[in-house]
Amino acid sequence: MAQVLDGKAVADHLLDEVRRGVEARKARGLRAPCLAVVLVGDDPASQVYVRGKVKACAQTGVTSREHLPPASMTQAELEALIDQLNADPEVDGILVQLPLPKHLDAKAALHRISPPKDVDGFHPLNQGLLFEGLPGLRPCTPSAVMRMLEIHGVELKGRRAVVLGRSEIVGKPMALMLLEKHATVTIAHSRTVDLPGLCREADLLVAAIGRPGFVEGSWIKPGAVVVDVGINRVDDPEVAGRIFAAEPAKLEQFRAKGSVLCGDVRFGEAMAVAGAVTPVPGGVGPLTIAGLLLNTLQASEAR
Ligand code: NAP
Repeated sequence: MAQVLDGKAVADHLLDEVRRGVEARKARGLRAPCLAVVLVGDDPASQVYVRGKVKACAQTGVTSREHLPPASMTQAELEALIDQLNADPEVDGILVQLPLPKHLDAKAALHRISPPKDVDGFHPLNQGLLFEGLPGLRPCTPSAVMRMLEIHGVELKGRRAVVLGRSEIVGKPMALMLLEKHATVTIAHSRTVDLPGLCREADLLVAAIGRPGFVEGSWIKPGAVVVDVGINRVDDPEVAGRIFAAEPAKLEQFRAKGSVLCGDVRFGEAMAVAGAVTPVPGGVGPLTIAGLLLNTLQASEAR
């Protein structure tokens, strides 16, 4: 059986690092870092994510501010709010929770955030710094995954890595960070030919596509490290029966609740062939929040 890479334990370790950083700032007579979170509208999933982020701020001594404008907010009003937070000397980090309501232009909003306060690492300036291999604020999910791989002593130099997904939030920055650590990286996407064959070459497989149980056990190279970034809700009994066939406990959970969260990888099948696997939930999810707080501390120190 593969080792389960416990994201929660690594996240606790990283949150501890933030807590110590905040205390060290206070000992130097500086105020705690401050994260401003903007949540437009009342999307329930976004509310859950924001609650998790605010809770982690409280745990680490980071000050959080919530801005909760209504879904009817205009682009001009959103950009005016971002400008106000950009200019506020008490704010170190700004996070605009995605997705935004459809009438708003998310890219324009993200580009409006001042790069030194861009704790999500989505501004083109920060993405450019990453591209050049220079220090800057980097996207939270891939940077926290890198810390987890480091903490678990996963060797990357010279190894074959396959990243499934090419989003700007996960896939592309993940590939750049792995490349920086000297892995030989392939990025796969919806037009890639023979995904199973490609995945079978990977010593490290990172799945970030948003499709439940897409990666089967037979796609995984024996002994590979599998990082499952996907977070999907399954509520179809036929899908659940198929993707959880090797995971009776999950199937049981599904039958009891009518829906469950799962990743892009069939965890039960992966456990039988991989060397190590991150679970969903409890893998990359908690790491992402820790990555955000590390970025907030970094932003406050840099300012
Ligand atoms: P996204 O922007 O929708 O991108 C999905 C990527 O997957 C695209 O590049 C797409 O290819 C590729 N893809 C889709 N279907 C495919 C298929 N059948 N075969 C091969 N490639 C396929 O998604 P994202 O924002 O990167 O998020 C991906 C997943 O990670 C989601 O489940 C999301 O909820 C989760 N996520 C989790 C965390 C966390 O904290 N754990 C953080 C962020 C995201 P094309 O480019 O060709 O369309």
